[in-house]
Amino acid sequence: MQKGNIGVTTENIFPVIKKFLYSDHEIFLREMVSNAVDATQKLKTVQLKGDFNGDMGDLTIRVGLDKKKGTITISDHGVGMTEEEIDKYINQIAFSGANDFLEKYKNDANAIIGHFGLGFYSAFMVAKSVDIVTKSYRDDAKAVKWTCDGSPEFTLTEADRAERGTDIVLHIDDDCKEFLEEGRLEGLLRKYCRFLPIAIAFGKKKEWKDGKQVETDEDNIVNNTNPLWTRTPSELKDEDYRTFYRDLYPMSDEPLFWIHLNVDYPFHLTGILYFPRVKSSIDLQKNKIQLFCNQVFVTDSVEGIVPDFLTLLHGVIDSPDIPLNVSRSYLQSDANVKKISTYITKKVSDRLSAIFKDNRKEFEEKWDDLKIFINYGMLTQDDFYEKAEKFALLKDTDKKFYTYDEYKTLISANQTDKNGNLVYLYAANPEEQYTYIQTAEAKGYNVLLLDGQLDVAMVSLWERKFDKTRFARVDADVLERLIEKDDDEKREVDADRRLSLATIFESSMPKRDKTEYHVETACLGETAVPVMITQSEYMRRMKEMAAIESGMGFYGEMPDMYTVVVNADHRLVKGILEAEDSTCSEKLRPLMEENTRLRARQDELEAAHKGKKDEEIPVPEKDELNTLKERIEAIRHEREDILRAFAADNTTVHQLVDLALLQNGMLKGEALANFVRRSFEVL
Ligand code: ADP
Ligand code: MG
Repeated sequence: MQKGNIGVTTENIFPVIKKFLYSDHEIFLREMVSNAVDATQKLKTVQLKGDFNGDMGDLTIRVGLDKKKGTITISDHGVGMTEEEIDKYINQIAFSGANDFLEKYKNDANAIIGHFGLGFYSAFMVAKSVDIVTKSYRDDAKAVKWTCDGSPEFTLTEADRAERGTDIVLHIDDDCKEFLEEGRLEGLLRKYCRFLPIAIAFGKKKEWKDGKQVETDEDNIVNNTNPLWTRTPSELKDEDYRTFYRDLYPMSDEPLFWIHLNVDYPFHLTGILYFPRVKSSIDLQKNKIQLFCNQVFVTDSVEGIVPDFLTLLHGVIDSPDIPLNVSRSYLQSDANVKKISTYITKKVSDRLSAIFKDNRKEFEEKWDDLKIFINYGMLTQDDFYEKAEKFALLKDTDKKFYTYDEYKTLISANQTDKNGNLVYLYAANPEEQYTYIQTAEAKGYNVLLLDGQLDVAMVSLWERKFDKTRFARVDADVLERLIEKDDDEKREVDADRRLSLATIFESSMPKRDKTEYHVETACLGETAVPVMITQSEYMRRMKEMAAIESGMGFYGEMPDMYTVVVNADHRLVKGILEAEDSTCSEKLRPLMEENTRLRARQDELEAAHKGKKDEEIPVPEKDELNTLKERIEAIRHEREDILRAFAADNTTVHQLVDLALLQNGMLKGEALANFVRRSFEVL
């Protein structure tokens, strides 16, 4: 029997291990099982090289649970260890390595040790003592037993073991009893060991017999030793990929499509990425991609390794070249990781581009689901934008699809304004903006449908990327002003009528908090609508941005500002002016006559005062001018009062206002009820 001290300088490292690894101590199982896998793989290699000619036997790794003894045993039939090897690999290197490591990373050990793994010594996170019973594959090897109770002291004795391989026996600590639960242990095996390349048996399969579960003779194999990503793509069928996806994400819908990653140089990486079908933003979860290192599950947090927009994808990535022993912030600056990220971006865009080219119809059918990923990528990564601009699609309100280039060609003849700017018209809600869309289409314009979560941001991006281009929502203004043309004859409404209409309509708009209406008159032709409500593109966009971006709260606080455009050409509007004339003229005429007289006198005085200094003007004249102005102002108020009184009683005005509101989905509650009642009366 040999007795000795493990090569460690710290008096007792185990409390340190436990403390630092507390949150992640379940990884002990991953470490034990992957050591067993490594030992088995080594045996295969040794045999291939002709250094081992014995019988391989059953190589299944077995994880055993003995609740009574409080032990977990991991058994393999791999290479085993000789006494010298235990001394070298277990006593010396591993422990001193762990010690150095803890010394170095004491402060953020929690963040990184979980990924680094302390290998064999992570056993002491859950075990009060550990036995290794092992026999090397070498012909002359003797079986040995190593025992360590969590102090730097160990014992090494000869053991009684006929078979080649290793048993690691963990005597589970009292405060880690949870790992002695069968369900917990099997859960961990499925999490970390699910795709390990050597079969792992956890007890026997069970079946229901006479109303209770009984064990069968068959091993309960917890892993798939040949996961899809390790296989050659040409051998695989679509159904294989779908089945694998269902295994990984049983709760998800069928994926849209997938990308098989496979690279040997300048780094090793395999994997399969799936584009999930996203039904709502709740489905948009990050951390669905699982990261493996030689088929050992490491983490499902791939931030920093995969470009941000691709963290929305599902699937698996397996690479021994991702340095998982460093912290996340360091990871992003690692050259290998950068290459990996670039490679994945390129693969994804190549695949999308291929589907677009080979099967545009399929691509269009999937566009609504794909759009969020592609747009997110275009918004966040310039190199992806450059690739995606060739296959990204625009969809119009007739559900037709165009590439950016196709769309530009489609609209450039008709939708270029007099300043040479190309105007992209869009609708965000085809139901609410129906009339505006109709009006635009009647003019031969095309209207895009931009109703996605990222479209507000996309519009700004497009305006930056596209030359001489402006986006305008169809209800942002009257079309003539959205796309100004040279040949538009500019007819103005005279000031008097403009003032009347403004007063009449302004006074009839509903009074609501944080909503302001401004009335404008325009000559839009006899066939256009009499009244329409528009909302400035700029203000609306600022408010929309404020809703999704922080730091723009100011815009969010602004009232909603609408423009009420009154079409002076429409017969109903003309009718209102006529009615106003016949109802109010008697009251208005003396006022207006007085107004004309006063204004003439005001002009006369002001002309006389022109060029004179204030002290040169006689005081009586100054007083007269002030009185004049006051009276003119008073007349203006009187006139407005008369017009308001007229508007209040005029059913047509109210109906027109309500119809315009209704068309924008803005007529609600009491106002809507009033409208309905008034309409009955009219009928
Ligand atoms: P690593 O696996 O990174 O080398 P570990 O601490 O997990 O570090 O293991 C240390 C060494 O102990 C291994 O390299 C291996 O030589 C030996 N070892 C551990 N477990 C086994 C096993 N089940 N069979 C054979 N050798 C083992
Ligand atoms: Mg190991």
